[in-house]
Amino acid sequence: MIVCPLFSGSSGNSTYVEHGASRILVDCGGSGKQIENALKAIDVDPRRLTAIVVTHSHDDHIRGVGVLSRRYDLPVYASVGTWDYLIKRNKIGSVATKNIRVFQSGKTNEALDLGDVAATYFPTPHDAYDSVGYVFSDGKSTFGFATDVGHVAANVRNALLGVDAALLEANYDEEMLWGGPYPEDLKARIASKKGHLSNLDAASFAVELVKSGVKTLYLGHLSEHNNTPMIAQCTVAEVLGDGGVVPQKDCALYVANRYTPSQRLEL
Ligand SMILES: [Zn+2]
Ligand SMILES: [Zn+2]
Repeated sequence: MIVCPLFSGSSGNSTYVEHGASRILVDCGGSGKQIENALKAIDVDPRRLTAIVVTHSHDDHIRGVGVLSRRYDLPVYASVGTWDYLIKRNKIGSVATKNIRVFQSGKTNEALDLGDVAATYFPTPHDAYDSVGYVFSDGKSTFGFATDVGHVAANVRNALLGVDAALLEANYDEEMLWGGPYPEDLKARIASKKGHLSNLDAASFAVELVKSGVKTLYLGHLSEHNNTPMIAQCTVAEVLGDGGVVPQKDCALYVANRYTPSQRLEL
């Protein structure tokens, strides 16, 4: 399986997953052009995409879903609640009926058949209705994906422990958030149990992940105002070290880039 975050952060998110004939976008939080350019930068022809998988309905995850589905005739997988919201609020325009693939997020023991890749899903604690994360599998290797999670709930933990690689949110540095310019109610929303993971939240879960077998960890969905790649990487590396994990030896640690494709991973 090949994994490559195309761009990641509160400004927009999309990650590419490939195995065999399956070429999947996890979220399309950018314009069609931005996503096409990112795919070209990693030598992927957008005409060969096979599916779009959506985590939740916030704009930084869905801006390009409709346009890419229409342009390349792509099926769109989303939870019932996410799909209803996108359609009722007219967020993505019209999608051909045959390309609508809606699932019940509660049935977490079922897997989406994406061709040569299967995806299981799990509900995430976030302030978007019916939001989910995913674990992708090619039958041999697994890649877990969890951004926009207010806290590491038991089901999120269970879903991600033991995967081979993961992209985990590290949204904000606590000092930067609380000392920063955001209004108090927005700060509280971000730090709430249905908001986003801080660097420290991500770090302590990262220790568990690496000890469970995760060999590659991307930190993603960084805030533009309340974090920097350097602070996120250092905070997580330090806590990993305190937990007896040697970063870059026991586990490769990357920060997913905000605007450009990140390290391509072959699992
Ligand atoms: Zn987001
Ligand atoms: Zn969100």
